[in-house]
Amino acid sequence: MTASHGFLADVTNMFNDAAEILSLEEGLAEKISVCNTTLTTRFGVRLRGKMYTFEGWRSVHSNHPSPAKGGIRFAPYANLQEVEALAALMSYKCALMDLPFGGSKGALKIDPSEWAPHELERITRRFAQELARHDFLSPSQNVPAPDVGTNEKTMIWIADEYRRMKSNDINANACVTGKPLAMGGIEGRIEATGRGVQYAIESFFQTPEDVAKTGLPEHLEGRTVVVQGLGNVGYHAAKFLSEENGCKIVAVVERDGSVRNPAGLNIEALRAHMSETGGVNGFAGGEYDSGSALSDACDILIPAALESAIHDGNVHEIKAKLIVEAANGPITYAANEILRERGVIIIPDLYANAGGVTVSYFEWVKNLTHIPFGLMERRRDEQGSRMLARQIESMTGCNFPQDGADAFLSGAREIDLVRSGLDEKMRSAYGEMSRLWNTSEDIPDLRTAAYIIAVRRLADIYKALGIGG
Ligand code: GLU
Repeated sequence: MTASHGFLADVTNMFNDAAEILSLEEGLAEKISVCNTTLTTRFGVRLRGKMYTFEGWRSVHSNHPSPAKGGIRFAPYANLQEVEALAALMSYKCALMDLPFGGSKGALKIDPSEWAPHELERITRRFAQELARHDFLSPSQNVPAPDVGTNEKTMIWIADEYRRMKSNDINANACVTGKPLAMGGIEGRIEATGRGVQYAIESFFQTPEDVAKTGLPEHLEGRTVVVQGLGNVGYHAAKFLSEENGCKIVAVVERDGSVRNPAGLNIEALRAHMSETGGVNGFAGGEYDSGSALSDACDILIPAALESAIHDGNVHEIKAKLIVEAANGPITYAANEILRERGVIIIPDLYANAGGVTVSYFEWVKNLTHIPFGLMERRRDEQGSRMLARQIESMTGCNFPQDGADAFLSGAREIDLVRSGLDEKMRSAYGEMSRLWNTSEDIPDLRTAAYIIAVRRLADIYKALGIGG
């Protein structure tokens, strides 16, 4: 994967476009856009009878507010520039969603498929020691989460290592999110990013003036969708859109090629086939070919794999009218300009994939309060339920919509709370972005609107701290 070299520059360019519209004083814009600190660590682990050296990074883009938040990826192509670009995106994402987190990201340069689980555990625990030793891991300063190549197991190894190192910290378990349910995780975290993509698309289709700009019919039902990447995010987004919104997933692009079905792919069956065979080739429910369906005609294109998937080399072939960035940075700055000129509407990454970190926030709050969600609800009376709803609202800053409140009254489960809170966060952030886009002549697209909201919030924090005028 060589695409990441321009990625950091792309994110900085997108930030600069917003900073210019906001007329931020020059010094302040630069202070906000650069990563504050990046740790590079090289540590040894003795495995298979020899010493292996692993290289990893954790970058804090901003620790205002603290803790800094963002995933850790395990990938053979990982590099420092990519980590810094992703850390910056985390700051903007958290600011846009109004979550009280700065932005951070980490990576370990490793191909997880080359190591047995017990080896990965030892490597991860050593990485966690390095992160903690350098203050890049702690519930109050820096809180990782899963990303590409990591999952809830990785997170619990990190949390467990941290707990051993800080045995008198009662909040130690809140040092990572995305943990298994039985170990302080929260219902709905695994599906959260894909669920957020679904809510983002629903919010778009509930805004007729925005849908009109695409020329698409006004209903989400029946829309044709191409998904690139059937990992955790792409799988959940495709599953929910096809099962709950009546969309047709007409093609899935994966590492080994594409599979198409104009009548709509069965996502569960395809995912089962992929876990068995490792790819989409040979799937009985569609037509396979080794090329990419990224440029197939469709209503909605969802890139849910890696950064820079749509670049100036392939952007001219893209036919979708609406692109939803489920991955971080899937469209380069240059390709973004070309798509904008062609009138293609893009729901940007810092909003579209914010479901993961939003539910991470609920998990972190749950861990810090040491109160299981739903505890008071067991009173099973209307007043108790309303009290709990208000309590969670005040803890998380969410206003539960009526169906969320109704869920409480009918015996709320944690999953209802999480989905309802996420739904509210996604809808209100969309409303803010869309209003700004539709009312300001100098804001050309949703991405710029998203950056403006985020950068304005960050600038206010920095100014309040006395950094910048
Ligand atoms: N890795 C996810 C992202 O890129 C989630 C981060 C988090 O939950 O902290 O947004």
